[in-house]
Amino acid sequence: MRPARLTPFQPGDRITLKKPHPCGGREWTVYRIGADIGLKCLTCGRRFLLARRELERRMKSREPGTVEEGNGPAAEGPPPANPESR
Ligand SMILES: [Zn+2]
Repeated sequence: MRPARLTPFQPGDRITLKKPHPCGGREWTVYRIGADIGLKCLTCGRRFLLARRELERRMKSREPGTVEEGNGPAAEGPPPANPESR
């Protein structure tokens, strides 16, 4: 079960915003996750950071990106070494 309120953004996700970018594009890809979400315009390549809450408000839809390219085999489950007490 995951909390319905938090969108689990992942790098590579494809985001469609309600309002188009000045360049005319409405599709964005997530390139960075943190306190703010880094978005890159797929049309003009412009990048910017948006607070997670702001993004959720402006977002129209989201498609999970395929995390194939990059780090070889997709690992299932969390890494075993996870020190919780810190
Ligand atoms: Zn753009």
